[in-house]
Amino acid sequence: MAVTPYCILIHYHEISLKGKNRRWFEKRLLKNIRTQLGGLPYSSVQHNASRIFCFGVEKMQWKAYGSRLKRVMGIKHATLMSQVSAEMDCIKDEVLKQLEGRAFDSFRISARRQYKEFPLTSQEINEAIGTAVISTYNKKVNLKHADIDVMIQLIKGMAYVGCDRIYGYGGLPVGCSEKAISMISSGIDSPVASFEMLKRGVDLTYVHFHSAPATNRQSIRNVKGILKVMATYQIRCKLHLVPLLEIQQKIMADAPNKLWVILFRRAMVKLACMLADKEDIPALVSGESVGQVASQTLSNIRATSDAGDRPILRPLSGMNKDEIVEKAEKIGSYEISIEPYDDCCSFFIPMHPETKADLDRVRKTEAGIEFGNLFQNALENTEFESIDCGDYKLKKTNMTEAVHD
Ligand code: ATP
Ligand code: MG
Repeated sequence: MAVTPYCILIHYHEISLKGKNRRWFEKRLLKNIRTQLGGLPYSSVQHNASRIFCFGVEKMQWKAYGSRLKRVMGIKHATLMSQVSAEMDCIKDEVLKQLEGRAFDSFRISARRQYKEFPLTSQEINEAIGTAVISTYNKKVNLKHADIDVMIQLIKGMAYVGCDRIYGYGGLPVGCSEKAISMISSGIDSPVASFEMLKRGVDLTYVHFHSAPATNRQSIRNVKGILKVMATYQIRCKLHLVPLLEIQQKIMADAPNKLWVILFRRAMVKLACMLADKEDIPALVSGESVGQVASQTLSNIRATSDAGDRPILRPLSGMNKDEIVEKAEKIGSYEISIEPYDDCCSFFIPMHPETKADLDRVRKTEAGIEFGNLFQNALENTEFESIDCGDYKLKKTNMTEAVHD
């Protein structure tokens, strides 16, 4: 008996709404999918009429493909499909075979016919196959909330049938929205903020400020662990580890303790902008959320932003802590973020930090501090790491890859 070939059918959403440069977004998505699938067997990844097919996959490894594809930004969902002849009997047999032994109460059939020579319309296919499922398994149709959605696609003289599906995060493929530097602590918020920007297609480089040797290097280890997780969404990323201690000590010596945290934050923004200058990166990202802690009031956010010459994107600004925690659990950073560490700011936190900074006063105080070469020194002593997700092998070069419209 001939072996049934399997493929994965990938749908995207937002990209298909793009205008003239849609092809460019699609190419980027294809590239990111191929990179993510590196090391897993497949024969080609092809674009076809607002969908992407990944051919020649191994059915038994569906879970591995699924967990990789879930991490490709831009994907709405991906379904494992078997390829059969475009004949109603073959389609029906395949649907019944795929449903055999599955626990479900309701189902729907979602047929789409791109192969217009096929004698039945999509609706007629839905009805005929639906009737066969009802009479074989005695299950109900539920169009809105089905336990199982069986997809049938008729394309170029072939039929594709499948119901195992993963849902992605949607958004835009990483790398199609320029770069930003994400200020990453080892807390819960900044990894989630980074994730939200990756989802908008932004390629992130990370900067972490540490106070070693006054604090131990645990925050650095945690950040590296978090970036291993972030790298599974962007394959590899860069981390700058900037020593902040000398600047902090200067601030603590010369400024009233009420302003320490704001001046630390301003120093971070300045240093991040200096790094961004070097690589011509247009924006920064931070995990602040309005009112979450004393340092994140609107006046303090204003006083922090004022230190830089680039927009600071704050994707969590309107989110509640429980929403952020839930997201952190979903993306896989939460467990690492809750490991104990000495934060470079909380370590030196005064009893009564400023909650409503007066910008003029902050600027004047800062101007009175003689930093000398401290900012330059911090950058010169910055350590640099390239982090990749580790468990992906690079794609084999002999794989055929084609783009068809
Ligand atoms: P997080 O959970 O991300 O640490 P938080 O609620 O603890 O956030 P803060 O410590 O006030 O808030 O930090 C606010 C934001 O400033 C962080 O989300 C992050 O973007 C940035 N930040 C704070 N500490 C550091 C650090 N050591 N290195 C780099 N960025 C930092
Ligand atoms: Mg923090």
